[in-house]
Amino acid sequence: MKSIFFIALSCIYCYYLNATSIIPAKNIGELIKSAEYITVARLASTDRIETNGKTYTKFNFKIVQNLNYYSDLKNEFSIINFSFSFKGGSFKASSDLEFELDQEYLFFLNKKGNYFIPVTLDFGIFEVKKYKGQEYLVPREHYLDVAQIGNSSLMKLPIYEKNILIKKIQFFKSNKTNWDDKNAEKLSLSSFYPEQRAAPSHCNFLTYQSKPFRWIGFPNSNVNIRYAASGDNSHLTAITDTKNAITETKNAYSGINVTDAGTHNYNPSCIGGSSLTDEFINFINSTYNSYRNILIIYNDLCNELADLINCTGIVAISGVFAISSHVYDGSLWNTAGYGYLLMNNNVGPCVNSYLYKLIVEHELSHSLGFDHITSSTANMNPYCCYTINSLDIACVNYSYSPIVLPLEIESFSIKQEAETNQLNWKINSQFEYNLELEVAADNRNFKSIYNSNSSNATNTFQ
Ligand SMILES: [Zn+2]
Repeated sequence: MKSIFFIALSCIYCYYLNATSIIPAKNIGELIKSAEYITVARLASTDRIETNGKTYTKFNFKIVQNLNYYSDLKNEFSIINFSFSFKGGSFKASSDLEFELDQEYLFFLNKKGNYFIPVTLDFGIFEVKKYKGQEYLVPREHYLDVAQIGNSSLMKLPIYEKNILIKKIQFFKSNKTNWDDKNAEKLSLSSFYPEQRAAPSHCNFLTYQSKPFRWIGFPNSNVNIRYAASGDNSHLTAITDTKNAITETKNAYSGINVTDAGTHNYNPSCIGGSSLTDEFINFINSTYNSYRNILIIYNDLCNELADLINCTGIVAISGVFAISSHVYDGSLWNTAGYGYLLMNNNVGPCVNSYLYKLIVEHELSHSLGFDHITSSTANMNPYCCYTINSLDIACVNYSYSPIVLPLEIESFSIKQEAETNQLNWKINSQFEYNLELEVAADNRNFKSIYNSNSSNATNTFQ
């Protein structure tokens, strides 16, 4: 135990903050209402700032055009992303904000201390792009990577000719009208981002320095998941929903071993404005005398996330701390040591229990090392919230091999008879086994049609 404790203490150099969930604005009109500041600005420089031992990247923008008069936002402003380094490590969060030097952007911003934060991160930032000599405002290519909560028909932001959108925003701000996109262009993102990514194999992993993350020791050693004892004051059933999410996660992925370890009393001092600092690691080490814990923090206790406005904005962030590295399947992986899920305040009025549970499941998968699945309606689709499906399971099974019982299928046949199909199989096993049959018309979305706990050697199903 002592050596494990030492490893934990000596390796808190690697902090990874990745996954963010947002509730997107229903349209640009809602985005306008959620933002205190709307401005077109150009990235003039980047530098690094240090606060309380943490180093952040700071993006300094020069304002090209304010779409309203702001006494405290005249010529320039800075955006700081969520990633930071401390104690000698430096790393980048994959879905955190990144900007290009000299590129112009249309921002919908809110103020956070001395800095500014885009209302819904990458969703809602437009880039000024030229196409056939004309300037357009184009949604950022990566906005689809941000996990979104709500109605999937809201996912696509339109492309506008620059001057038309700017005039439309100014008109909307001074006249109380309904927003419509009838002046939007019919162009698609591929006209502006010719090197659109090719579809990768469907599993994605959180990476730091090109290495994916993975917990080691499953299934023999467990990871404890604990949730704040005070619950979520915006959502009365938060703890029940969280417990259900843990149970469903545990049941869905047979290669992992997570435990509902009950409540925690982590009460961050919020020095440095964050709940995820050395204090978080020290709390886990000293309270539980071990790492391998994932803590769920409700209500954004240190107010490090911008508040949701009209149910638009950041819902949760989650991720994992690495403590060392190991080799798995022939490559080097970061060894996960601590996980976290930070839920924003006032999420309750924006979701029901079912969505809350699915959000927790999605975020816990990030803490287990997984990034988004964009190819289908998986729980890890960036568009939240779907139930865990076979694509999620395939990714988890890759990282954490499921427990396989010695089982031999001696025969399996299908016979079509009028309206029905008859399935026959014979299994040779010394053990009791659980057999589940799934069908998929599209070879993707499998549905369970038969489930049996049986030691019968021969079965028929119609
Ligand atoms: Zn996510």
